Amino acid sequence: MISLARALELLDKSAIRHRTEVVSLVEASGRYLAESVRATFDIPPFSKSAMDGYAVRSEDVRELDASLKVSGIVAAGARSDVPLRVGEAIQIMTGAPVPEGADQVVRVEYSHRDGDYVSFDSKERSTNIIAQGENAAIGEVLLDPRRLRPHDVGVAASVGHGSLSVYSKPVLGIISTGDELREPGEDHEPGTIFNSNAYQLHCQAEAVGYRVKYFGIAKDTAESLNEKIAAALDTVDVLVLSGGVSKGAFDYVPAVLETVNVREVFHRISVKPGRPTYFGIRTNGDRTQYVFGLPGNPVSTFVMFELFVHRLLRLMCGLAPELPPLVATLGESISRNDTERTELIPVMLEGDTLTPVRYGGSSHLNALSRANALIEIPLGSPGPQKGERVNARPI
Ligand code: AMP
Ligand code: MG
Repeated sequence: MISLARALELLDKSAIRHRTEVVSLVEASGRYLAESVRATFDIPPFSKSAMDGYAVRSEDVRELDASLKVSGIVAAGARSDVPLRVGEAIQIMTGAPVPEGADQVVRVEYSHRDGDYVSFDSKERSTNIIAQGENAAIGEVLLDPRRLRPHDVGVAASVGHGSLSVYSKPVLGIISTGDELREPGEDHEPGTIFNSNAYQLHCQAEAVGYRVKYFGIAKDTAESLNEKIAAALDTVDVLVLSGGVSKGAFDYVPAVLETVNVREVFHRISVKPGRPTYFGIRTNGDRTQYVFGLPGNPVSTFVMFELFVHRLLRLMCGLAPELPPLVATLGESISRNDTERTELIPVMLEGDTLTPVRYGGSSHLNALSRANALIEIPLGSPGPQKGERVNARPI
């Protein structure tokens, strides 16, 4: 058995960058950016007005009753070729270039217009001018590799990108294993268990950016497993199996994987939940496929996906393996007797306080619905104390 830290290190070493593709802007949200987006010009490209109003020389409006002659008007998108002369104002719209000679825009709400003349009844505190290059200088990196959010797409569009280079979505296959499993929607016969893992995994995988294929339930026989695994490995980049990796009499998954040339990287980790977790790799020419055998208890499946399968995607897409943790204060002490494993515990984060939720172990799936984060108790620690600052991973 290896430590969680060692297992993560082995995963990191195995991960290879995925291929990239070019997509349109509207397809780019939620995708992993594979290039850096730079400012293709100064932003803004010229000094522009932040208000509808009048471009003035601030010294000309020092006295509130000063009346200025309006010598012109400049709209957004127009050029301002005429400089502003002493004692004059030029009417200006939001986004329009500020005329040479002006150092302030007084908003229209403060103005009194009388024919060709304007005066102001309040003073502006700010210049209301956004200077050329104030937001970004030409060549500055605006977006480094990241998972794109809608506002990131906006930034790319604002500097003229019509499309973006992103990592292709790795295809993730799901196989549930277990003779006892029935699909949700079927009758609940005695002794059967609804297959919750496949749907939970499907949603977890799509939420982080995999493309998902579901291959159904394999029976606990070598033949059934072999058939489903072989079909999945024909197409997927990443295969996630749930169940069948423990030490039970019918846990055939690792043995069957060996027969289809999947090389074991690790099997069994000192982590709770998730001890039986299996990870292997199949390489064929320049194709690498990754296989996870996750223990079937639904909390284990969930947590191991968060720790390993999400991490693999981030690495395949050129990112650091983990998002930075949240740090908050523990509201209640947690104590444990078994300190031999790294343990992940579901907690509720409200404000700055983390409170453990009622949790009975890896089959207690509905405990996760009362939690919004996981905290990690390190190997050897009897548990963190009330008031301690601890790292939490949002779920
Ligand atoms: P296993 O890892 O196959 O030994 O399964 C451990 C426990 O998880 C057993 O109680 C299984 O019935 C349950 N289990 C296995 N697969 C699933 C699944 N797909 N959905 C819900 N529970 C499962
Ligand atoms: Mg099973």
